[in-house]
Amino acid sequence: MEVEESDILNFNDSIRSIIVKLNHYDVADDLWYHQAAEDFWKGVGKFFYLVKPSETSFERVEEVPNYFNEAWPYFLLFILLENVLLWAERKPIMRINDSITSLSHGLAHECSKLVFKAIESYCYISIYTKFRIMDLPWNNPTTWYLAAISMDFFYYWGHRASHEIHILWAQHQVHHSSEEFNTAVGLRQSVLQGCSFIFYLPMALIIPPSLFITHQHFNLLYQFWIHTKAVKTLGPLEYIFNTPQHHRVHHGSNIWCLDKNYGGVLIIWDRIFGTFASEKNNEEIIYGLVVNRPSFNPLQLQTFYTSYVFQRFSEMKTWKLKLCSLFYGPSWRPGSPRLGLEEEKIKVGPRQKYDIKIPTWCNLYILVHFCVIIYGYHKMSSYYLVLSPFSILLFVVYILSSLTSIGMMFDNHPYACVLEVLRCMLLVTAIQNFEFPALDQTVLTVMEVFFLLSGLFWFLKCTKVIQIIPKEKLK
Ligand SMILES: [Zn+2]
Ligand SMILES: [Zn+2]
Repeated sequence: MEVEESDILNFNDSIRSIIVKLNHYDVADDLWYHQAAEDFWKGVGKFFYLVKPSETSFERVEEVPNYFNEAWPYFLLFILLENVLLWAERKPIMRINDSITSLSHGLAHECSKLVFKAIESYCYISIYTKFRIMDLPWNNPTTWYLAAISMDFFYYWGHRASHEIHILWAQHQVHHSSEEFNTAVGLRQSVLQGCSFIFYLPMALIIPPSLFITHQHFNLLYQFWIHTKAVKTLGPLEYIFNTPQHHRVHHGSNIWCLDKNYGGVLIIWDRIFGTFASEKNNEEIIYGLVVNRPSFNPLQLQTFYTSYVFQRFSEMKTWKLKLCSLFYGPSWRPGSPRLGLEEEKIKVGPRQKYDIKIPTWCNLYILVHFCVIIYGYHKMSSYYLVLSPFSILLFVVYILSSLTSIGMMFDNHPYACVLEVLRCMLLVTAIQNFEFPALDQTVLTVMEVFFLLSGLFWFLKCTKVIQIIPKEKLK
């Protein structure tokens, strides 16, 4: 079949109109693509802190763009690029089960931010308003750089506390729970990680709230791309900046990697405070937790360690020991120093990664439903200011239960199909009985049919009309 020249022109026009519409460019301006390219590179630059203070300083908190939310297309682009590099180097690429689990944690963390951000803003602004010790101009580059450095300094201490205090580690371990090390892991965060804002509150004594929020975004964006094995070294930058090489050590469960390289953007804090370790060329890094409890179910990964901490707490005989079990390090035992004895730490050697191979169609099913969940989250987050707290709560419950259902499917859990039937049928009922002003009628009809067919399929599977046999199960 021959492709007409007019077809190609029509295709180019369609792509152009989509880009112009998505970014609100001026259609009449023939140089719109220059603007698009400039915006694209500015978006990439935000991941490397390559931004101009004059373009990222705002007087009021409400004016600060949600840089992190805007970065989702770039996250996907980085993930794609990393896999192309790994594939070109003939190294293993991402596993779909582990990567979607990481992204699920990222999405659950974003939902929790809807609550924690409000508390964080309230506390920070209250301290800044009542107790600040100086008035720094919000539009001065010196204030901007001071905010960037103090954000990274307090990140170091907050991160270090998350590793050295057992009850905080119970949350932060989620970020370390993957046995892989890739950019998707950069998005794997605990739902309760938002509580860590208390470590940044001293900044409120001098740094204006709008700059605090701006640098919180950039500090987090920088930490996304350092989760990769595709970049070996960055040469002299390794002395000053946190890099993929340094962060690989941080994620290792080998004894020499434990409690090392806490830095966010700068590695100098680790060098100053004695927690730095370099990567060893002759030793393979084993990723994942020392006491591994692998699963693809985000709900289980988010909660299992907290119940372990409380089990340890109840086993202690005295109140002093009980408090030590909560506030000392994860390796602490009665009679040992705060962070435990080196010789008592568990030696982790090469181990088989947890993997359950489910059929390709099942992976595709999960992928499509995961995209629908992201679409739902995107709609909810852009409308959440006009939604009632109850509607937001329902939406968050929908997202979390959907992610759990997906995780249980990856785990080939016996009740996964029952949960999926319930989830799909509840969604059909919700579409039929509630109003969704953010979605037009065609989208709602497609969604209704989509969830109805999905629910019907899993109902047939529950009743053993259809069965899924995993290809292979590895432990
Ligand atoms: Zn960590
Ligand atoms: Zn990390």
